[in-house]
Amino acid sequence: MKVLQDEQRITVMEGPWTPVDVIKQVVDEGTQEDPFYVMNLGEVVNRYHRWKELMPRVEPFYAVKCNDDKVLVSTLAALGAGFDCASKAEIQLITSLGVKPDRIIFANPAKMASHIRYSAAVGVDLMTFDSEIELLKIKQHMPHAQLVIRIRCDAAVAQCPLGIKFGCDPVSEAPRLLKLAAVLGLEVVGVSFHVGSGAAETEVYARGIQWARALFTSAARAGHRMRLLDLGGGFAGGSHSCLAHVAQVINNALETHFPERSVQVIAEPGRYFAAAAYTLATMVHAKREVASKDGADQDETHTMYFVNDGVYGSFNCVLYDHQQVVAEPLVPSTAAPRPCSVWGPSCDGLDCVLPSSLLPPLAPGAWLLWRDMGAYTLPVASPFNGFPVPRVLTVIDAALWAVLKDLWPISEAHFVHGGPIVVPQTPPLSPPSPAACPSPSPSPSPSP
Ligand code: PLP
Repeated sequence: MKVLQDEQRITVMEGPWTPVDVIKQVVDEGTQEDPFYVMNLGEVVNRYHRWKELMPRVEPFYAVKCNDDKVLVSTLAALGAGFDCASKAEIQLITSLGVKPDRIIFANPAKMASHIRYSAAVGVDLMTFDSEIELLKIKQHMPHAQLVIRIRCDAAVAQCPLGIKFGCDPVSEAPRLLKLAAVLGLEVVGVSFHVGSGAAETEVYARGIQWARALFTSAARAGHRMRLLDLGGGFAGGSHSCLAHVAQVINNALETHFPERSVQVIAEPGRYFAAAAYTLATMVHAKREVASKDGADQDETHTMYFVNDGVYGSFNCVLYDHQQVVAEPLVPSTAAPRPCSVWGPSCDGLDCVLPSSLLPPLAPGAWLLWRDMGAYTLPVASPFNGFPVPRVLTVIDAALWAVLKDLWPISEAHFVHGGPIVVPQTPPLSPPSPAACPSPSPSPSPSP
């Protein structure tokens, strides 16, 4: 099975190191100009073990949409995770890694008919719904599907609320939909909810689990055999985030409402696995001194720094994912921090990464670090204006590599041991073919 492209490499690190050391080595070498990520695979593995330790009853089904990097998903597959896929292409990606269809949930409550047919063809039977129309569509294209009703259960505060788009009301809609499914001869096997991505409330999981219990009872009355509870995503992912508290809330609620071990409990964490593993490095390539924005001090200036990745690239997360990104100079400075803003490389005025920040004075050529950049960044990034999407330099500690190498579907040729650390380079843009070049048009005649 071929998981990675021929040229993809994973660098195996000997001795003590950190992602910041790796970035320094690359930058000190002197030729790197494009932004790049260092992806620390050990972070993903540690998070997987931490999850299993803190919530032994809850099987993580990684939400592929969060970051579909093949090394990340194939590592999670090797560790035994399941997957939440939102589309045909995501199902294709995950099954191409050799993941069995019974470890996949098609967790998009509004699916295209062709995607449902694809799911049926490859044996991904588990899928979510939250409306009558979806039930009718599934009846037509995949009557044997194992259905999971998605209910709305919103955290009081979330970085990206999802309840505004998905999830039926557990009281006024769900019981009716469960009856309709039974009348249509469809099999409902579970309940799911998503509290909102980057949820700032933990008790919400207890509410969701309680609602699910009530719906297990209504579903059984309607004739369904319920066996699955899906807690969705919403788990924090930053380096300083803590899973322990939310795990305690979930474990207690499961013991109260689902003491029976016959119910399979899954969750769909995305951010939790992806965010902290990726550190982005960007270079300052230009700067401007402008009058201070707030005008408080007429003599005070504000520095605009231009870096080589912006909101059309990795920092799309500032717009779409409402992330609060933090810049750190790669080389620490003792100089006093000064008011500044950080801008992306495109010609668009919208391309502002940090409108107001404090950084020590930086010269063009200085590098900035951005931690916790693995969630909802790379899969959305575009090379708008010709600025390449950053490439990923994947690193793994030698001791961990020795444990994982026989589990991975990745051949030895993809691992680099020793030698200089090299960031994969973006292939040059191919020149337009002659046929695509417009022929020179006659100069317009000057207007009268
Ligand atoms: N499951 C579903 C259905 C989602 O829509 C999402 C994110 O949008 C996730 C899981 C992952 O959420 P998170 O990254 O907050 O864990």
